[in-house]
Amino acid sequence: MPELPDLAIVAEAFHAALSGRGVRSASAPGPLAVRGTPAELEALVGQRLARVDRRGKFLRLELERDAVVISPMLTGRFQLAGHRDRLPAKTAVVLGFGTRRDGPPGDAAPWTAGAPWLPAVGDTPEIRYRDTTQMGKVYLLPSEVERSVPGLGPDEIGPDADDPGLTIDIWRERIRRHPGELKNLLRNQAFVAGIGNAYSDEILHAARLAPFRKRSTLAPDEIDELYRAMRSTLAAAIEVLRGRVPPTFEKQVRDFLAVHGHGGSPCPRCGTRITEVSPGGMATAFCRGCQR
Ligand SMILES: [Zn+2]
Repeated sequence: MPELPDLAIVAEAFHAALSGRGVRSASAPGPLAVRGTPAELEALVGQRLARVDRRGKFLRLELERDAVVISPMLTGRFQLAGHRDRLPAKTAVVLGFGTRRDGPPGDAAPWTAGAPWLPAVGDTPEIRYRDTTQMGKVYLLPSEVERSVPGLGPDEIGPDADDPGLTIDIWRERIRRHPGELKNLLRNQAFVAGIGNAYSDEILHAARLAPFRKRSTLAPDEIDELYRAMRSTLAAAIEVLRGRVPPTFEKQVRDFLAVHGHGGSPCPRCGTRITEVSPGGMATAFCRGCQR
């Protein structure tokens, strides 16, 4: 499932590659994924893409008038391709873009500058959104239509885990309301947005805290350590992914993680064999040697 670091790469890359271009085609080979009408999809054509960004586990495309929000859920993936490239199976939505006069927007992420995968100004690239399980959704948000996006309501989504505004003081304040298990706490989007099953394991390993430990048992310095581990784990992952994901944006790179997906292997910190359990079918990996 794409989490904050995965979507951060896609958002930064797509903003650099596509913003400033006009939509030249919009189609839905998998219409079940779309929340919106065919007319609303068609109305995207001709609008200029202003920016691409990420909020929690959602990717947002802001056009000059309307917006599109994509919730990839478990298996949704994004591809950046030329319009003549073969369309992959299970493609749900395709947005085609025209040429642009200038290069990337002035606020493009610095790491994207001069990247070999950036389409040339005269190219006509496409975003393909595909989803093998069809669980994800593409929400069309025309400026004149009130359409709510489940998970993006004001009570449903908290600050992004990497939001500079989420200071340690705000963290200490917010975490008090959540007494339960730490893994569930990190995955609770209303508490902090963008973290899922994989990165919650990584953050807890970095913080040396056990996933099923209750927040109510944490000492103040452990609460602070969890904050620092969250920030540093996500920032380090984004740095790795910038170098590993492009130009295959649909690829989910997870092999560099310390514990998630590595049950049975030695812990990179203490050498103890990593434990993996799957309560409710959700794999949780942690180290009994160095997480308390
Ligand atoms: Zn360990």
